[in-house]
Amino acid sequence: MNETLDITITKADQSKLTVTDFSQLPFGKVFSDHMFIAEYDNGEWSNLQVLPYGPILMSPAISALHYGQAIFEGMKAYRQADDKISVFRADKNFERFNKSANRMSMPAITHDIFMQGIAALIDIDEKWVPAQEGYSLYIRPVMFATDPYLGVKPSDKYTFALLTTPTGPYYSKALKVKIETEFTRADEGGVGFAKTAGNYARSLYPFAEAQKEGFDQLIWTDAVSHEYIEEAGTANLIFVIDGKLVTPSVRSTVLDGVTRDTIIQLAKKAGIEVEERRVSVKEVIEGIESGRLTDAFAAGTAATVTPIGEIGYQGKVYTLADVSTRTVSANIAKTLNDIRYGIVPDEFGWNFVL
Ligand code: PMP
Repeated sequence: MNETLDITITKADQSKLTVTDFSQLPFGKVFSDHMFIAEYDNGEWSNLQVLPYGPILMSPAISALHYGQAIFEGMKAYRQADDKISVFRADKNFERFNKSANRMSMPAITHDIFMQGIAALIDIDEKWVPAQEGYSLYIRPVMFATDPYLGVKPSDKYTFALLTTPTGPYYSKALKVKIETEFTRADEGGVGFAKTAGNYARSLYPFAEAQKEGFDQLIWTDAVSHEYIEEAGTANLIFVIDGKLVTPSVRSTVLDGVTRDTIIQLAKKAGIEVEERRVSVKEVIEGIESGRLTDAFAAGTAATVTPIGEIGYQGKVYTLADVSTRTVSANIAKTLNDIRYGIVPDEFGWNFVL
């Protein structure tokens, strides 16, 4: 463990930094100058490289394209108050990546490759980590099956890559979300807990339908009864009911979000009671109507903490408490950001300082 890996570095001839407008950063569209790649063959990872970001040559027969053996992660590097760069809870993303890999019959990536890959890539693209408040460098690890073989079986060969993209605030306003009761994101025994490509592909159609109805995002319910809330589009959901933080428990259909876990720990430390359990649609609707539900927000790496302003359910739209009254989520979001940006001490040891 912790051996220093041999990573071949090939620098880009020209940086795109000077032609990148950091004040206009649509999520995930602008990539930094370099990427990290490792290849898996004969049971081991090799050919570790940092190289200019760009297309890679692949056969159209690769099994990732046909059978969806593809997983990814998402985390962020922050430029801290002392100008050091820190990746938030990279260990959690590493663990979840390998959980996804295991479920999709893909090989595990080693801790050294994951961490040293990130360190080598950010070292060379350091200037791509924005300094403005609310900005960060999003890191996208991805692994996909590369056997050019049409038989349905786990691939023998894989590519692991790290891409980075500078990013600003994801959602700029409170969300109008629809409780989805027709389509499902995940089912028991399936792959909902894994960050695998197909989970996102299957969400696109219901999401587009909801957008046509004027919603920003979906709230997924359980596949069996559609009576229990699971998570939001690409974030976990957290409610404040009777002053307690209430969130659907993590199960095989719910992604174990790093932001969710972080917020739970911060809330507990702040003396707020936390309930991780099944949360019914009925409880949420009644909570809004009675005023017992005082806050609701989506929690995720890209979304950070995004307030939910309105919830649509069975043709009716329910308006939640005014965002200016949401002190619980506002306080948690502030503490979370202060830790990420190194403004307050990192008591939990969450920052992987490069
Ligand atoms: N649920 C889903 C389906 C997601 O894609 C994400 C984003 N990774 C999350 C929840 C939030 O997880 P995290 O806080 O680790 O980003």
